[in-house]
Amino acid sequence: MNKTYIKNIIVILIALVFAVPASIDFLSMHAQEQIADNPHVSDVRMLSYYSPGLKGTASDTELFILDSGKPGGTLLVLGGTHPNESAGMISAISLVENLKVNQGRVIVIPWTNKSGFTHTSPLDGMLDKFDITLADGCTRTFRIGNRLTNPVDQWPDRSFYKGTSGRKLVGTENAEIRNVNRMYYGKADGVLTEKVCYGIFDLIQSEDVNLVMDMHEGSPEFLYLDCTMVNWKQDNSTAMSIASSMALSMQLDGLDMRAEYSGKSSYGLSHRSLGDNTSAMMTLMETYNPSMGPLHGKMDEDLIVNGNEPNYLQAHRDGYVYFDVPENGYPLIQRVARHVTCISYLCQAFSEENPDKAIVLEGIGTYDEIVVKGLEGLLKPVK
Ligand SMILES: [Zn+2]
Repeated sequence: MNKTYIKNIIVILIALVFAVPASIDFLSMHAQEQIADNPHVSDVRMLSYYSPGLKGTASDTELFILDSGKPGGTLLVLGGTHPNESAGMISAISLVENLKVNQGRVIVIPWTNKSGFTHTSPLDGMLDKFDITLADGCTRTFRIGNRLTNPVDQWPDRSFYKGTSGRKLVGTENAEIRNVNRMYYGKADGVLTEKVCYGIFDLIQSEDVNLVMDMHEGSPEFLYLDCTMVNWKQDNSTAMSIASSMALSMQLDGLDMRAEYSGKSSYGLSHRSLGDNTSAMMTLMETYNPSMGPLHGKMDEDLIVNGNEPNYLQAHRDGYVYFDVPENGYPLIQRVARHVTCISYLCQAFSEENPDKAIVLEGIGTYDEIVVKGLEGLLKPVK
């Protein structure tokens, strides 16, 4: 065996030392979170039921249906549109595990961009998973993905693309062709991300969904935190009065919240383009996620779960960040409680305005009750 041959083998072996553990780590991101049984879940269906082009792809995703059996309205809840915004997925999972619907129907999608949960954000210093230890001592693991579809599943990003909303993706927006929240209302035979969008669009139409909440989080620099966007369309005054009633109820509970109309040029976003193209009332809410901005410090489970980020607190005190960064951190449980409470008040206000399409929820409690329970009490043990 000559020397070059031996050298090559050594280089390959050294490369494998790094590649094998990295591959095992990345492959583990395909292991989906388990969901605890809830006897009030009446059906579980895949999104490909509404968008057949998703069948067999990494983006086909479960939707959980909780049907009261009593005629009323239908609420659709989207979690995990952006898989790096953990409160969205955790809120959706906590609804699936705890909710009982007493009138109408609720449909929950915890992993809206399922492919996005299988990769991380390169160079962002993000974790790929975090653990929650439950009251009974067992541990549940949750993934932190990327806001875009995995390029392994959808590639290449085009240099120019015009979505069904009319949004033109060019220049720095090229990669947004893999962003579920830029590609509505979607296309049955479009790129993979558009097929996800189309599935949600068709689900809203086929199931006569009346109200939609798309749950998001943002970095502290983002101006729409603690804000609910409401669709801009013909019947916008009723939608805004429902959202404002929700915001007032939250303010009375001591929780900052405001409602704003969807931006006139927010084409491709759920609240704008599903609002424009379906009869459902569209809403999207954002909470502050201290791990998401570029100023974040050490990335660990304390930051993800307890939300302590001294850099942002200092930036706020120095006048560089508008958002009122809480001194004692912004734990994940408070962000989850905020999303769930927002949904609860939205349903109440929607039902008052539309008594024949009432959506009556039970089993989730008030904001304070959720926070006291903690994630360890809110999430259920899985077998
Ligand atoms: Zn988002």
